[in-house]
Amino acid sequence: MDARGERAEEEVIQCPPGSVMIPGLIDAHVHLDLDPTIMKPDDQFTPSRHDRDLRMIARAQAMVRAGITTARDLGAGEWREILLRDAIARQEVPGPRLLCVGQPLTIPDGHCHFWGGVADTKSAREEVIARQLDREVDWIKIMATGGVFTPGSRVDGAQFSESEIEHVVTVAARAGRAVAAHCHGREGIRNAARAGVRTIEHCSFAGKGGFGVDYDPSVVSEIASREAWVSPTINGNWQHRIHKNGERTDFYRRTRAVLAGLREAGVPLIASTDAGIPGVHHHGLWSGLVAMAHYAALSPREALCSATSESARALGLEDVCGVLRPGLSADLVILPGDPLKDLGQLSQPLWVVAQGNVVRRP
Ligand SMILES: [Zn+2]
Repeated sequence: MDARGERAEEEVIQCPPGSVMIPGLIDAHVHLDLDPTIMKPDDQFTPSRHDRDLRMIARAQAMVRAGITTARDLGAGEWREILLRDAIARQEVPGPRLLCVGQPLTIPDGHCHFWGGVADTKSAREEVIARQLDREVDWIKIMATGGVFTPGSRVDGAQFSESEIEHVVTVAARAGRAVAAHCHGREGIRNAARAGVRTIEHCSFAGKGGFGVDYDPSVVSEIASREAWVSPTINGNWQHRIHKNGERTDFYRRTRAVLAGLREAGVPLIASTDAGIPGVHHHGLWSGLVAMAHYAALSPREALCSATSESARALGLEDVCGVLRPGLSADLVILPGDPLKDLGQLSQPLWVVAQGNVVRRP
């Protein structure tokens, strides 16, 4: 059956011996409207809107052909990714099922203020949320701390208080939406966790000396007790940050300690890449997953669950996708070999079926 409930042409897929079928992958943090080949954030707006739309469509196609059949888009300024979401749902263009947040809430001159979600009062926050709901977003996002790619914003600085984030969570919940919080520094992570956001993005415990320097187990306990998910946004380039001059880097040691603390406390991790930021391509979830398995000391099975069943639960899609079960969406990836033995098998899917449509064949 296709998405409209009509019986599509039946096709029998012949899988070669040794091939393995898994559920379609989920990337829980991407930005469809960002071009990863552009290194300076300001230059994102240089190409014409028409050009950017075409490139965005191409990125969605590359994602689904790489086996990513669902993705959560965590922000842009013009809601174009929402038009794309709807075009994909209508089966007009190939791409992953998308969940979108539109413009994330931020403060004046704060992280990604140029996307238009600036709100420094209670009524302004309600207005920004109402504007996103008008555009039919699936989630609400708040920038709880500064970010790496916004000049002048501090990754370790909290942008909203606990009660301000709680207000956003309440307003969003009234409209049936969960909240994702961008959080680097310790204070922002704590505020977001206490306020009851559903997913904590990055969770890097970044301080003046880089990622992981402000690691605080008491904050990790708060995340665990609120049953939030952490989406650590690990991309394939992290594989090159493990060693320098033959030695383990501080970045690796600190990040690994944060992830180990989260795991020990029982906080579930979901696979995410932040695709769209400089050098991080949208179809590269598989290499991010290999890196994530390394940094977070996950078995291949745990890594796969973080990109399928666990992610579907975090995103509220457990009745839609994330496992192979009759009645769920036909989101299937057929790999040449067993990913439980080698996650690298994810790099070369033979077949990909997204919502019942074959989007890749050998
Ligand atoms: Zn992001």
